[in-house]
Amino acid sequence: MIPFNKPHMSGKELSYIAEAHFNNILAGDGPFTKRCHAWLEARTGSTKVLLTHSCTAALEMAALLLNIQPGDEIIMPSYTFVSTANAFVLRGGVPVFVDIRQDTLNIDEHLIEGAITDRTKAIVPIHYAGVSCEMDTILEIAKRHKIKVVEDAAQGVMSTYKGRSLGSIGDFGAYSFHETKNVISGEGGCLLVNDSTLALLAEIIREKGTNRTQFFRGHVDKYTWQDIGSSFLPGELISAFLWAQLEEAEQITKQRLDIWDEYHKLLEPLENHGLLRRPIIPAHCQHNAHMYYVLLSEELQRDKILHRMKADGIGAIFHYIPLHSSPAGRKFGRASGELTNTDFCAEKIIRLPLWIGISKEQQKQIVSTLEDAIKFN
Ligand SMILES: *Cc1c(COP(=O)(O)O)cnc(C)c1O
Repeated sequence: MIPFNKPHMSGKELSYIAEAHFNNILAGDGPFTKRCHAWLEARTGSTKVLLTHSCTAALEMAALLLNIQPGDEIIMPSYTFVSTANAFVLRGGVPVFVDIRQDTLNIDEHLIEGAITDRTKAIVPIHYAGVSCEMDTILEIAKRHKIKVVEDAAQGVMSTYKGRSLGSIGDFGAYSFHETKNVISGEGGCLLVNDSTLALLAEIIREKGTNRTQFFRGHVDKYTWQDIGSSFLPGELISAFLWAQLEEAEQITKQRLDIWDEYHKLLEPLENHGLLRRPIIPAHCQHNAHMYYVLLSEELQRDKILHRMKADGIGAIFHYIPLHSSPAGRKFGRASGELTNTDFCAEKIIRLPLWIGISKEQQKQIVSTLEDAIKFN
């Protein structure tokens, strides 16, 4: 069996965890967390990066920072993970779903303006597969309508748009370090605060609504309850693990890109025969090889093909059930216009195994199994 995912270890995770243990520093914001913050800030250019328990938690922080109130609308694609919407729904927000582009499967920036009402508070672009949305257009629309941009960059660590790190371009960005992403800590994430005037409030929201972070910096002589908040910070053992991964982030990305390129080469003949479509990466987007997917041609039945691949030992999978057609999405959100591309992709996508250590032989086997499954469709 070739699994869909295999978490990659840099090798230093346990020794850094042992170091935190030896030094008796276990709560959050210790030396390893500080190292991770500094590295992420230097790497992305963001004003303030704060580790969280997950990307989901970082998105929830963004919703609190934007002071989302019941009835406020948030524009996003339907083709995304639930947390993109759920973080805002927790504050009473209403997700407004727009369609995605055919090429990148990212939010179609030309449909955003048509979805804006006087209740719209934010746009949440998702950088699908670590390939950037059209941020210049999105920022321009947001500025003109005085609304905020929160980048769901869960899949976008180490990717760039016109040279800028994903997550550092909007008002806020959120990364995920979940086991299934490129750089991992089991569960984990961070919030990128790109507006320096909100950095202090972000620290307060993350520390149970207190100014404890300022207290530890020696900026105040006692700390008190300042605002609403929660406990969003991870403990040091998680940060120690993550530090071992961040040190290797460049290497991890390179190795994943090699695997991605190999799939791209192997699948070219199938695309030329009109059986499927390979991912399209715009020239100004540097991606991080988070995912390799194919979109089957119209007449092929995806579920049959996946079933056959599974029977042949290949852990290929699909996602997402579009949010607008999910039970909670129907209850809490609404669609703006037709979501034709969303529905098509959700029915035709196949994601192939991509993890460090997969061999070229295994990749060949995966592609030939896919080819066979298509022929027997
Ligand atoms: C993985 C993912 C999330 C959630 O990340 P967690 O760290 O598991 O909370 C959110 N949005 C997108 C687009 C994702 O891919």
